[in-house]
Amino acid sequence: MTAAVILSALAMTAIVALRYLAASGLFAWATRRVRPGLYAGLEPQIRREIGWSLASAAIYGVPAGVVAWGWDQRGWTQIYDGWGDYPLWYLPVSVLLYLFAHDTWFYWTHRLLHRPRWFRAAHAVHHASRPPTAWAAMSFHPLEAVSGAIVIPALVFLVPIHVAMLLIVLTIMTVMGVTNHMGWEMFPRALVYSKAGNWLITASHHQRHHDEYKCNYGLYFRFWDRLCGTDRGLSQRSA
Ligand SMILES: [Zn+2]
Ligand SMILES: [Zn+2]
Repeated sequence: MTAAVILSALAMTAIVALRYLAASGLFAWATRRVRPGLYAGLEPQIRREIGWSLASAAIYGVPAGVVAWGWDQRGWTQIYDGWGDYPLWYLPVSVLLYLFAHDTWFYWTHRLLHRPRWFRAAHAVHHASRPPTAWAAMSFHPLEAVSGAIVIPALVFLVPIHVAMLLIVLTIMTVMGVTNHMGWEMFPRALVYSKAGNWLITASHHQRHHDEYKCNYGLYFRFWDRLCGTDRGLSQRSA
């Protein structure tokens, strides 16, 4: 049993690391094509971003691997795989619930991480990327990585979700984590500057957090930033 749990944790670490390398690699390649020279001179920083991100992959992989083992072997979690187990309308609702719960956790822990003590102890690692690149997606101090790594493994015990919807949540998490840091906006202005765009976080929004620190703390939605008066709008630099 112990060996199976360790194996699952190792396998999940490898999956998270490969997912990071594939997603960041893809958007770093796109950046070279769309914004040639944007990362010029940032090679030492990129090496640090990759190092911290691969360490984070292990921190994300272990709880995910243990929970995946428990789901498979012990029937843990509320993850289901029958399309008829819950009403069909619940499929998109569960995705939104997960994104909103993750966003809420991220917003408040992120604000805490900007308190001077926590910033020096942990969050400075993420902000050492100036400006961040597509490789900064998981560039976190281990303390901060732990706070991020427990969210989805905890949620699957609380909120039912179809395994395919969970994969969608993880894909959104990966793609937005990378693209919000890559230094240019990939979404059309018609979306970013639309009514819906007013509530969504893309690169133009998170870039401003990296430029100015004390604003734009959210992950997917601008709900908490707007409610708490920390939303300063979009960066013009990455537009
Ligand atoms: Zn960031
Ligand atoms: Zn921050």
